[in-house]
Amino acid sequence: MSATPALIEATKLSVDVPAKWLPFARVKPLSILLDVSLAIRSGEIVCMVGESGSGKTTFGRALLGLVKPSSGRITLEGAALADFSAKSFRAVRRQAALLFQDPLSSFNPRQRIGAMIAEPRRIARSGSTRMEDLVALAQQVGLSERFLSRFPHALSGGQARRAAVARALSVIPKLIVADEPTAGLDVSVQGGVLNLFLELREQHRTAFLVITHNLSVARHIADRIVILYLGRVVESGPASEIFRAPKHPYTRALLDSEPVPDPAKRRTEPPVLGEVPSIAARPEGCEFHTRCPFAQARCRVEAPTLADEPGHRQVACHFPLPAASAAAVRGLHVVSR
Ligand code: SF4
Repeated sequence: MSATPALIEATKLSVDVPAKWLPFARVKPLSILLDVSLAIRSGEIVCMVGESGSGKTTFGRALLGLVKPSSGRITLEGAALADFSAKSFRAVRRQAALLFQDPLSSFNPRQRIGAMIAEPRRIARSGSTRMEDLVALAQQVGLSERFLSRFPHALSGGQARRAAVARALSVIPKLIVADEPTAGLDVSVQGGVLNLFLELREQHRTAFLVITHNLSVARHIADRIVILYLGRVVESGPASEIFRAPKHPYTRALLDSEPVPDPAKRRTEPPVLGEVPSIAARPEGCEFHTRCPFAQARCRVEAPTLADEPGHRQVACHFPLPAASAAAVRGLHVVSR
């Protein structure tokens, strides 16, 4: 692993939410994120992968202070945030931008695209807001000059996503947190957005935390992958190694859920092995044991801890898949949501 200090690092970050909406007056808060640690370095693209409800969006928002962590620690370029107050997150927000899953929801419907992408420069009093410079910024993300005079409702999904990227780049951030950046886009547009991320990394050493349920996205751009299940990290490591030989059965299941373009190689196994348990009723022991085909008696009573494995990998499983069998094990896959 690189000795470069982390741009941003979360250590044992947890997020609880009140559970007042539950019946029977449950008062104990629910944990939607549990002890998640992750360091992201400049120029690195980390993909956080998991099904819907795994806590990945919550982690991205907690890192930027949009959701208040209940415990843990965040350091920015080695300096720890004093607390989780809005004031202490200001330093993070100056360095980072968030690309929302639905970019249109983050736009002011009455603001033209040109004014929208100029706004961060105006607020930061940094960078030019002259028309020719805004045109250059729009062109950098593949939008022509005519889009600057349009209102958000006149943009397609792909154009809106590009406009959101242009706004994020208006004051070049050191970190971009991109939540499902290809959701709802045509495959050809998806590739364009991901290639844009790669260009940004090359040109500016921008770091990315890409939050996705889509392993094809991770396969395209990730340096490192973190797999979340019920708000906990179950596996992490270099992307190439995780795709070559996943060690956690859940990672194996996600990989087996990837669409197979060749009809001759289509899988015939059932698509889902059970439902994701509720965070209000977490299974005892390993929380994946209710869906795991490799579960043994120990798994039902003893929770595995996230342990270091060779090759800068970590896995939380009592019986990690050996490399040889990982490639051979088939039959478990989950539906991407
Ligand atoms: Fe499966 Fe047991 Fe590993 Fe959990 S600890 S993933 S149940 S083998």
